[in-house]
Amino acid sequence: MIKKAIYPGSFDPLTLGHMDIIERSSKIVNELVVGVLNNSAKNSLFSIEERVNMIKEMTSSLPNVTVGSFDGLLVDYMEEIGANIIIRGLRAVTDFEYELQIAQTNHVESPQVETIFLTTSLQYSYLSSTIVKEFASHGGDISKFVPASMVDRIYMKYKK
Ligand code: ADP
Repeated sequence: MIKKAIYPGSFDPLTLGHMDIIERSSKIVNELVVGVLNNSAKNSLFSIEERVNMIKEMTSSLPNVTVGSFDGLLVDYMEEIGANIIIRGLRAVTDFEYELQIAQTNHVESPQVETIFLTTSLQYSYLSSTIVKEFASHGGDISKFVPASMVDRIYMKYKK
């Protein structure tokens, strides 16, 4: 059976923690789709097109990884693209309760859908897109948090 998985998220912006999950999960499944959530209710720093293009650029060396965007229900998008595995990263206990709830809901909604959790690599366990934005907005050094070619693009967003 071909294992096609989706790694859904906001990725606003993509961090090294996300990259780590993408690289590791791409070795477990046959095909991985990074699904960027187009959540109009969230005030995002990067537009959906910018996020999709940046992730395409950052994953271009991974042959079984593609990037798409979706709005609405994740399980509907998965049906559309023929994926049945959801990949999520777990950083700390704080992620757990929420992630468990979503995973169980998705499984009830679509019994063929399974969620696989990858625990974060130790060096990224503190890292989130929110922290990156907070640091960048105050001119802090974000070079240890995001892929090198993203650093200036993130700073640019805060330049008036
Ligand atoms: P969402 O808004 O759906 O939480 P994010 O872009 O913040 O989207 O995160 C997408 C996924 O990546 C989530 O499963 C999250 O737990 C995981 N993730 C985020 N940061 C890290 C990290 N530093 N290490 C491992 N997983 C992470």
